[in-house]
Amino acid sequence: MNRETKIITSEEIARQHSYISRVREAVTGEGEKRYALVRTFGCQQNEADSERLSGMAEAMGYEITDSEELADLILVNTCAIREHAELKALSITGQFKHLKAKKPSLIIGICGCMVSQEHRLNDIKNKYPYVDFLFGTGEIYRFPELLCRAREEKGRFFIVEETLGTLAEGLPVKRSSDFKAWLSIMYGCNNFCTYCVVPYVRGRERSRKREDVLAEARELVSKGYNEITLLGQNVNSYGKDLGYDYDFSDLLSDICAIEGEFIVRFMTSHPKDASKKLVDTIAANPKIARQFHLPLQSGSNAVLKAMNRRYTRESYLELIDYMKAKIPDIALTTDIIVGFPGETEEDFADTLDILSRVRYDNIYSFIYSPRKGTPASEMDCQIPSEIQSERFSRLLQLQHKISNEINQTLVGTTRRVLVEGISKNDPDMYTGRCESGRLVHFKSDIDYTGKIVDMLIERAETFNVFGRVVPADIARVESDET
Ligand code: SF4
Repeated sequence: MNRETKIITSEEIARQHSYISRVREAVTGEGEKRYALVRTFGCQQNEADSERLSGMAEAMGYEITDSEELADLILVNTCAIREHAELKALSITGQFKHLKAKKPSLIIGICGCMVSQEHRLNDIKNKYPYVDFLFGTGEIYRFPELLCRAREEKGRFFIVEETLGTLAEGLPVKRSSDFKAWLSIMYGCNNFCTYCVVPYVRGRERSRKREDVLAEARELVSKGYNEITLLGQNVNSYGKDLGYDYDFSDLLSDICAIEGEFIVRFMTSHPKDASKKLVDTIAANPKIARQFHLPLQSGSNAVLKAMNRRYTRESYLELIDYMKAKIPDIALTTDIIVGFPGETEEDFADTLDILSRVRYDNIYSFIYSPRKGTPASEMDCQIPSEIQSERFSRLLQLQHKISNEINQTLVGTTRRVLVEGISKNDPDMYTGRCESGRLVHFKSDIDYTGKIVDMLIERAETFNVFGRVVPADIARVESDET
């Protein structure tokens, strides 16, 4: 058993590339187009992983499809953060049984956080006999080998290694957007919040080398990507394991020094590690979006302690005050867990109090969901679901009021917006995102998809704002006046 972070050697990556060539030769030799479908559950890190999986599938001769009926290869990239996400992935996998019965040559693989847990690995092995192969989050680089073996040897293959995580460079990637890109800078987490499975399923923190991250960032900018989101479970820990004096703020500054017009975002920050240096770096670099996502989880010191978050409401608020002083137009967002074991009405009132003080632009709130194997799932005083739901709706009610009030203050101002395309809800409108992450809807005769435009905000609701594109010179005058 190897319980260390495993750096995947260039020889091993070359071995995987030889499997890629072998599968590609076989697939193209079949004379018919072959299709691969990658279904993704969960967070942005999983989306980034799926872009690697799609890149490898494409390199192996498969065309990427959204159609289950068309697919010759289906990969389900699972999430373990909440039970609901696991049940959904299992239910979808269950439905693939019928597809396999109709098309016996269909190959099905499962990967991601859910199957990196032993009990789920056993579930798949025993209850889903039509799943051909399975690999954990640390074995993504071995997907070509597993697919090759599943095609040639017709057996079932399962690999979830007991390392503390892997670091692999040099794998193909197929990005799902031409103008927005994920850029993973590190993997894993050392924090062991008592409710979270991430350190168990994604291993310990490991940073990609500065030169690898910067090379990828330069490549993205040279290809015309307008928005780069740096990903890590705890980006503020970036660099601690590199062996030289270089931290996340240094990385941000180096990325911003790349020539070209683009917006940099990042997620996720842990409040115990978010530094004033980081805030100063954001303030000094206009390429970094004026948005900070700082997960609070609870406003009560007692609950924060039970969660093993290692900060207090006082230190959290001090950092927020510093941010607001240094970057007055910063948009703040957070994550909140409602109904953590032992949360009293007073604890919950402390959370509402922080919402009222900070006035977040938006919150991502969840009802606590026990995860097998985590300390919180064993705690006494689990909160009854009706109390959780009642608190959850009070939380939302307060936040909706705050979000609406903040949105109304935007009316009449001009914002930098990255246009994402036609609105999902109204085919006559386009949708874009402000630097704050807020959705902006607008009508236009010109398709600005993928471009950064200046937008005059004309109307606001709780979740959306509406505006119109204004020429850059007019936008400058108007924003000088506001
Ligand atoms: S910081 Fe806490 S919540 Fe975030 S991934 Fe690590 S253990 Fe999970």
